[in-house]
Amino acid sequence: MSPSPKIQATTSVYMVIGDPIAHSLSPRMHNAAYQACGIDSVMVAARVSADFLESAVAGVRALNIRGLACTMPHKAALCSLVDTLDPVAKAIGAVNTVVNNDGALTGYNTDWLGIQRPLEKRLALNGRRVALLGAGGAAAAALYACGMRGALVTVFNRTESKAQALASQYGASWSGLDATCDLAQFDIVINTTSLGMSQSIEASPLTASQLHRHQVVFETIYSPRKTRLLSYAEQAGCQIVYGSEMFVEQGAAQFEIHTGALAPREVMWGVVDDGESVSG
Ligand code: NAP
Repeated sequence: MSPSPKIQATTSVYMVIGDPIAHSLSPRMHNAAYQACGIDSVMVAARVSADFLESAVAGVRALNIRGLACTMPHKAALCSLVDTLDPVAKAIGAVNTVVNNDGALTGYNTDWLGIQRPLEKRLALNGRRVALLGAGGAAAAALYACGMRGALVTVFNRTESKAQALASQYGASWSGLDATCDLAQFDIVINTTSLGMSQSIEASPLTASQLHRHQVVFETIYSPRKTRLLSYAEQAGCQIVYGSEMFVEQGAAQFEIHTGALAPREVMWGVVDDGESVSG
């Protein structure tokens, strides 16, 4: 769906920033939502390299950009560039949503909701054993989302020191990540490594034999839609959760923070279903 045809002097401007950004579906998804709700706003995309992030944030204030959606690689750096950090974003250490109130910038994180809500549609998290693959920003959001519901999380990561550092913030367990890890005892497997993204489409953080039919396998990667890991999980008889579901949920929460209106999830889903690739 195209942006509102009635852009005028009073239209609020939102921006999604990242590097790369050309493949992002955020403008299409948010613009479709503004139109569906009759909100006089538009979202555009800007490729912002890490070197220019600080100037871009100054530009948000100067141009009175109403808010930001933010994707890789800026989520951690934005924490120190906003005036106020929402406590959840502070705990996770990453900002993916910024609101500009007359030059005062507040940073939020909605990625954790993109993980918690789809999981809770399938099962209660309390007491579940979760194998969390990866120890970066998305892993921090997943650990926050699962930990607050009483799930028992073990962080598995290629670089063990990062697994240890993340796990220790929440008193979680940790381990290295390789083909010898035994995951049979886990109810949920969440992949937050970037292994399997379009640049490494044949790769998977786990082998087929490490997955078991009683497990829910949650993928955060959304491009490609069905990663190698999800194919393995499907073959093993697991319940699978696509990364596109996370994308819509984190975007819906972002829309609600930006506009104060209830997100039209079906409209947002329609855009993502149509899209060939998706980026937060
Ligand atoms: P990040 O902070 O850069 O973390 C990347 C993680 O992947 C690290 O744990 C890293 O391990 C691991 N990794 C990278 N290459 C690897 C390899 N060859 N073998 C094993 N592990 C490898 O990235 P992030 O921000 O957390 O994002 C991670 C993923 O989440 C991305 O695919 C992103 O697209 C996705 N995501 C999706 C949504 C959504 O809406 N669906 C939202 C946010 C993020 P090391 O520590 O060893 O380097």
